Amino acid sequence: MSELSNIKRLLINMHCSRCRSEYDENSIKIMRSEKGLLVFQVKCEKCKRCFGMALLGMDSNELEKALDMDEKKPEINAEPINYDDVLDAHHFFQNLDENWSKYIN
Ligand SMILES: [Zn+2]
Repeated sequence: MSELSNIKRLLINMHCSRCRSEYDENSIKIMRSEKGLLVFQVKCEKCKRCFGMALLGMDSNELEKALDMDEKKPEINAEPINYDDVLDAHHFFQNLDENWSKYIN
């Protein structure tokens, strides 16, 4: 699976904090992808709000594994996706808003 589709899966159920639009493939721009570091930009197509996300210590393969694990244990966990993890991550990512570009050389 491509990095882009993995990131899109990560962003499912996330909305633009300004206009509540959902993100799609066109919203995502991968800035850096290497072992243990995945940096991408998410831009709302509707209101153009833009923010950066960095996945540290996780490359796209590990991201895919994590996403697959979430989907494969719905019978154990009533929640189909572990939203807590996503929300925690989202909070962390939001902190990068102002300085996220420093992760990009
Ligand atoms: Zn928006």
